[in-house]
Amino acid sequence: MKRKDLFREGFKSVFQFTFTKADEISEAIKEVWKEESDPKLNPKAKDKKKNRSKGSKDSLNKLKSKPTVVRKRKTRMFQTLSLPPGASSDFFSLCTGCNECIFACPYAVLFPVTDENQNQSFPHFDPNAKACHLCTDWPCISACPEEALLPYEVSDTTPKFGKAKLLKEFCINEKTGESTCNACFVTCPIEKTVKFKGNLPVFSLSSCTGCGLCVETCPSFPKAIQIKLFKN
Ligand code: SF4
Ligand code: SF4
Ligand code: SF4
Repeated sequence: MKRKDLFREGFKSVFQFTFTKADEISEAIKEVWKEESDPKLNPKAKDKKKNRSKGSKDSLNKLKSKPTVVRKRKTRMFQTLSLPPGASSDFFSLCTGCNECIFACPYAVLFPVTDENQNQSFPHFDPNAKACHLCTDWPCISACPEEALLPYEVSDTTPKFGKAKLLKEFCINEKTGESTCNACFVTCPIEKTVKFKGNLPVFSLSSCTGCGLCVETCPSFPKAIQIKLFKN
C-alpha cells in the first residue's frame, strides 16, 4: 500500500470511530429527552409544559408593555456610529438611502443602517472599527445625487466626526515605560495633531477629525485609542 493511502485509511478509521460515538451519544440524548417530555413516563412534564407557555405569555406581555427599552437600545447603537463626510444638517430628510456613497467608497468604510421609525436605511460608519481615509477627492460626497452630502467649500476643510482619546493603560509605551511605538503619530494625516508628552501620545482637540486611522493602526490589543464621537 502507498504511504498516501495508508494515511488516508488511518484518518478514515479515526473519524469513523468519532462519528459512531457521536451517533450513539445523540441517540442516548434523544431517548432521555423523550422520557423527560412524555407525560405518561414523567408526570412533572405536564406541569413544566404549562409553566413554559405561561412564562412565554408573561414575557410577551412584558415586552408589549415596555416598548421604550427597544427604543433606548437602538439610540445607543446610533450613538456609536458616525454619518459620512459632508453630511448636511438636514441629512435625514435629504438622504434617500440610495447607497451611492457606500458603493463609491474605495475603502468600504460606509454601511447602511436601518432606521425602523423611518423604515429606511442611512449610510454610517464606525471609526473605531474601520477608519475614514479622508480621501482628498471625497468620492462619497461626489457620488451623492441629493444634497445629503455636501462638498466642503474650502479644499482643505476636514470633517469632524469626533475626537481621539488615549486609553493609557493599553498603550505599548505605558507598558514598556519607553518610546517603543509611534504608530499613531506616523499614521495621522493631520499635521501636528498627535504629539508626545513624555512617551505617551496626546491628541489635539482642535485639529483631530475623529477619522479613526490612528485606532486602526494602533498595534496594541485592546486598542489604546478610542474615538469619542460628536453627536450627529
Ligand atoms: S472620504 Fe473616502 S474613505 Fe471616507 S467615507 Fe468618503 S470615500 Fe470612504
Ligand atoms: S488623531 Fe487619529 S482620529 Fe484624529 S485625525 Fe489623527 S488619525 Fe484621525
Ligand atoms: S499607536 Fe497605540 S500603542 Fe503606539 S503609541 Fe500610539 S497609542 Fe500607544
